Amino acid sequence: MARARFDHWTISRRSFLALSAGLAIAACDRPGPRPVRPPRTTTTLPPVPPLAKDPFTLGVASGDPTADGFVLWTRLAPEPLTGGGMPPVDVPVRWMVARDESMRHVVGEGHFVTGPEVAHAVHVVVEGLRPDRPYWYRFAVGDWETPVARTRTFPRRGHDAKRLRFGFGSCQSFRDGYYAAWRDVAADEDLDLVVFLGDYIYESGLRGAVRSHLVPEVITLEQYRNQYALYRSDADLRAAHAGAPWLVTWDDHEVENNYQGVSPEAGSTTPDPAQFLARRAAAYRAWWEHMPTRLPPPAGPDLRIHRSVDFGRLARFAVLDTRQYRSDQPCSPADVGVLCPGALDPAHTLLGTEQQVWLERTLRGSGARWNVLAQQIVFSRLAFTPPPDAIFNLDQWDGYPLARRAVLDVLASARVRNPVVITGDIHASGVADVKADFEDPASEVVGTEFVGNSISSGANSTLGAVLPLALANNPHVRWADLSRRGWVRCEVTPSAWRADFRYVDDVRVPGSPVTTATSWVIEDRRPVVRV
Ligand code: FE
Ligand code: CA
Repeated sequence: MARARFDHWTISRRSFLALSAGLAIAACDRPGPRPVRPPRTTTTLPPVPPLAKDPFTLGVASGDPTADGFVLWTRLAPEPLTGGGMPPVDVPVRWMVARDESMRHVVGEGHFVTGPEVAHAVHVVVEGLRPDRPYWYRFAVGDWETPVARTRTFPRRGHDAKRLRFGFGSCQSFRDGYYAAWRDVAADEDLDLVVFLGDYIYESGLRGAVRSHLVPEVITLEQYRNQYALYRSDADLRAAHAGAPWLVTWDDHEVENNYQGVSPEAGSTTPDPAQFLARRAAAYRAWWEHMPTRLPPPAGPDLRIHRSVDFGRLARFAVLDTRQYRSDQPCSPADVGVLCPGALDPAHTLLGTEQQVWLERTLRGSGARWNVLAQQIVFSRLAFTPPPDAIFNLDQWDGYPLARRAVLDVLASARVRNPVVITGDIHASGVADVKADFEDPASEVVGTEFVGNSISSGANSTLGAVLPLALANNPHVRWADLSRRGWVRCEVTPSAWRADFRYVDDVRVPGSPVTTATSWVIEDRRPVVRV
């Protein structure tokens, strides 16, 4: 067994951005000799400054798994809610990956030098590991050390993986409740992945039903950083990160409610376009600093986050960004209304041209059994009144009908096998048959949409009055619940996909019981859901 040690190999501050842009740190857990790529620059490590308090208050995380690695994340913040509290100097953070939970069989270790320009965030890209197995990791700096956390590599591309167990969730308003759902995720020791579909933080509102925010509205980089730190002050959320690798995307509230690309929401506190873009830059930067992702840091207000991840040949996840590139919503200053001609203009985009082309390529080139669109907003048609002049939530795919048409056309023309859309945003859960043409009730079912309940957003409130309307006007919606919080657990095999909707008893209670309320099953090449 070859084994690489990294005690004397360090990454300089200058090569930090190169590392973020893709330079990975090789570990080695493969049989036989294998060249280990050394980091490009070696220098002596900067000294560890005196740290009187635990700098690991935000926990640890891992993410963006591949067949030979993942990214490991932490951020040094002894005073998490007030800017972090680190001295403004570079700090070497020691990381360690092992094959066993007791950390006896170390397969990779090294130092990552972080600094004030990234709020002392750490993103270590580890490569060279064996496919399809768990690993454990920890960080240390000075005398401080994190607990051991668990992650895993994925099966090799092309490998006929037999089973994938993953969870997905979204919308975790800190104000609205406790994270019993994350406690339930953390207690599940058999999850290969957690997919987060957006609204990791909420930017507005001081007081909520259950807990309070730090400031009335988050606008500056320091405020966004503090808001992430506030959310991570929750031990259940930290535990969910420490138990499995995550695959994350964002929705609107990581910046501002219902923003559209470069346009702030109606009534925004940052209405000036330049001011809004500066805010978006701060928000994207803080998101990147706090997420376990191998993406490079944002360039100003831009960060490409759409990407795909394969779990062997069993599943391909296409992770979408339906916020950054979308056209402003032309039909109504409110989010709910009737479609107007502007929404049918071919220039009215949701994904943007580059992402649309990428998605087509990703779907056409997929040999996966299940093809997952991991994304934010409700994909299936959801009319609240009958046609003509049906009323829609125009913030969803319903407000961008040609963009949805383009995706449906690719699913049909490329004969994409088993498309499954997983969705957040709406603070309600549901299951829908994805129709080749939603306007034609007789058209065939080409895929399935699972809409996950929010982790906490919405507290115990209910949109129950809308439910009869949604079901009556949209026969392809097979089931919906508009009152409960939780997450969705999926078990995927070559022959079937089962989705268990896990419901929290009461989000106002820490550690409230979580139970499976309902389960839905689809089968290979049989997308119509059944209970
Ligand atoms: Fe939300
Ligand atoms: Ca949202």
